[in-house]
Amino acid sequence: MLDSASKAFFHLLAQSKILKTLGSRYGMRRKTSFARRFIAGEDIHEAIEAAREVEARGLMHTLDLLGESVASLDEAYAATRQYVEVVDAIAKSGIGRGISLKLTQLGLDVDKATAVDNLRRILERAEPAEFFVRVDMENSPYTDVTLEIFETLWEHGHRSIGVVLQSALYRSEKDLARMNAIGASVRLVKGAYKEPKTVAYQRKADVDAAYLRMAKAMLVEGRHPAIATHDVAMIDAIKQFAREEHIAPDRFEFQMLYGIRRDLQARLVKDGYRTRVYIPFGREWFPYFMRRLGERPANVLFVARGILGEGD
Ligand SMILES: Cc1cc2nc3c(=O)[nH]c(=O)nc-3n(C[C@H](O)[C@H](O)[C@H](O)COP(=O)(O)OP(=O)(O)OC[C@H]3O[C@@H](n4cnc5c(N)ncnc54)[C@H](O)[C@@H]3O)c2cc1C
Repeated sequence: MLDSASKAFFHLLAQSKILKTLGSRYGMRRKTSFARRFIAGEDIHEAIEAAREVEARGLMHTLDLLGESVASLDEAYAATRQYVEVVDAIAKSGIGRGISLKLTQLGLDVDKATAVDNLRRILERAEPAEFFVRVDMENSPYTDVTLEIFETLWEHGHRSIGVVLQSALYRSEKDLARMNAIGASVRLVKGAYKEPKTVAYQRKADVDAAYLRMAKAMLVEGRHPAIATHDVAMIDAIKQFAREEHIAPDRFEFQMLYGIRRDLQARLVKDGYRTRVYIPFGREWFPYFMRRLGERPANVLFVARGILGEGD
């Protein structure tokens, strides 16, 4: 199937050191460089500027300091320190207070206990400042451990955190029931990673059907549901369901990625729906960028035009 083949292909390309070097050299260096369509910039100041523009359009946001799969404790500590600085910078700037992060960025591959400690350090700074911290979901080898860490923190009383579930995974409906039962806020996505058929639906129709079932369950039983998709068919079906069930628009929110379907973002705001934009920034943008290309091969043409237009 083209859909999953293209995800797999771009996943493979994302491992390429040559592409990463070339991309990092050209992708962000000017205001018009190709990666800037999806990534707000390389430093927090550019991200805050992007967030202000997003707010001016009536949207909310969550900021993501890009990074994942760090391979040493030093890198994990460095990422944690950077996140704490990001929290401080956001608080100082006066923009909305929300961040998203990945556990492998905090050292999950190196040492689980350290990753948990690192997350705690970020929460210690973020929670008193009334931030909401969303733990992104990575590929399926991390599902169990991510939920386990999330639930442990939840049991310890952390309430300003939320988790992400992927409708592509067979297991997610059960995970959702558990999250709804404890009252945790879930961001529902289809899933950005190429997954084997032992754990995930391979047909878009099946991923979409699961997405709708889960979104409805979240609207009825969930706390602060976040419906993250750019799929108009999903969004329309969810809006209709909410109307039929008399679920007020302020009981849930839509979420979209920075630079994707800005027209749809604007339309949702105009129609009175709470809508949040996920704003990624930072120097480690290459794997995120490649996932966005893999989702929509037409993006490659956009990038190719950008590279040809770059000159030296
Ligand atoms: C706020 C947010 C947070 C996310 N967090 C996670 C996470 O933690 N873990 C995770 O696995 N995934 C995450 N994702 C990604 C998600 O899993 C999907 O890979 C991604 O959203 C594309 O799926 P879709 O729902 O938009 O539907 P699709 O069926 O893939 O796309 C529907 C339509 O959206 C538009 N579109 C989709 N992707 C692109 C693109 N890259 N470029 C241009 N147009 C596009 C196209 O018009 C397309 O026809 C997140 C997505 C969002 C919006």
